[in-house]
Amino acid sequence: MKSYRIACIPGDGIGKEVIPAGQRVLAALAESQRDFRFEFSTFGWGADWYREHGEMMPADGLQALKPMDAILFGSAGDPDIPDHITLWGLRLKICQGFDQYANVRPTRILPGIDGPLKRCEPADLDWVIVRENSEGEYAGVGGRAHQGHPIEVATDVSMMTRAGVERIMRYAFKLAQSRPRKQLTVVTKSNAQRHAMVMWDEIAVQVAKEFPDVKWDKELVDACTARMVNRPKSLDTVVATNLHADILSDLAAALAGSLGIAPTGNIDPERRYPSMFEPIHGSAFDIMGQGLANPVGTFWSCVMLLEHIGEQAAAARLMAAIERVTANTKLHTRDLGGRATTQEVTDAVCAQLALK
Ligand code: ATP
Ligand code: MG
Repeated sequence: MKSYRIACIPGDGIGKEVIPAGQRVLAALAESQRDFRFEFSTFGWGADWYREHGEMMPADGLQALKPMDAILFGSAGDPDIPDHITLWGLRLKICQGFDQYANVRPTRILPGIDGPLKRCEPADLDWVIVRENSEGEYAGVGGRAHQGHPIEVATDVSMMTRAGVERIMRYAFKLAQSRPRKQLTVVTKSNAQRHAMVMWDEIAVQVAKEFPDVKWDKELVDACTARMVNRPKSLDTVVATNLHADILSDLAAALAGSLGIAPTGNIDPERRYPSMFEPIHGSAFDIMGQGLANPVGTFWSCVMLLEHIGEQAAAARLMAAIERVTANTKLHTRDLGGRATTQEVTDAVCAQLALK
């Protein structure tokens, strides 16, 4: 029987609740499929590890992850530790170490969930946002001088390379081509940022020639936020820089009903390294340990993980099980206006998977 090695990194806060829930659902799925199995390895990295060892993950942590088929990640963040330590010390270390340059974020309105867009039918909102995940505004290039003095200066340099933009653009066009509408919107701010953003536009024109069957257009990021709210149906696949897509995808998650249901994949399209799947929400310490965390974002991330490892049929079965559960408003967690617990939602998805 085929066996997949899955690394589970719960991390911090509600990551410690939703990742075990995701693991249970994957195990229930494998149990009911009977044609593959999972070998899970759990890594207790994150803020607690930092308090004990002075780092978010061990120096040889990437070595331990490398032989895995995929990584399921919870969240990194702690109210007592600065974000740049928790983020750069774990999640970004893995994304960068494994060159997971495509961050992919599907958004749909799931059955039973009411988004804030009152005039929007669920079928009107079906997007995938592709975020450049390796450079750009989050390249970490910049510096500070004269700290604390009136002449203090600080810079964050947005660094874009031709190779980096070409590979994310090609990935986005390919993804758009694989979707029914074959449509891509390339988002920039090239009216105000005259260098790297203009290069994005040029590269879009160049790469588009390789995909004559994909319909594509350009949009400015500010206009794109309004378009997402006013004309959701006009968008399908969207590609944007690290910062722009970060913001657009939080808006997308909110328009789909809750941050708690949104999934994402950090993908190495060349498959040199394992890719990493995670709910887009953070550690959410305000609701931690109370059974309030919505596990749907993690379950949907498991669907993406299954698609990535090539188990398309199992992925479709899990998505159908998730949708049958969200359709029942009695199984909504508090973020969706319901009263169900993390465990009740997890039990319900496992029960759906046990049905033949
Ligand atoms: P971090 O600093 O790690 O990003 P955060 O505390 O900023 O974490 P977010 O994940 O960004 O938290 O979420 C913002 C708020 O949305 C949370 O405080 C929480 O109330 C709510 N929330 C996020 N994820 C979920 C979830 N899975 N289920 C229920 N509520 C959620
Ligand atoms: Mg946050």
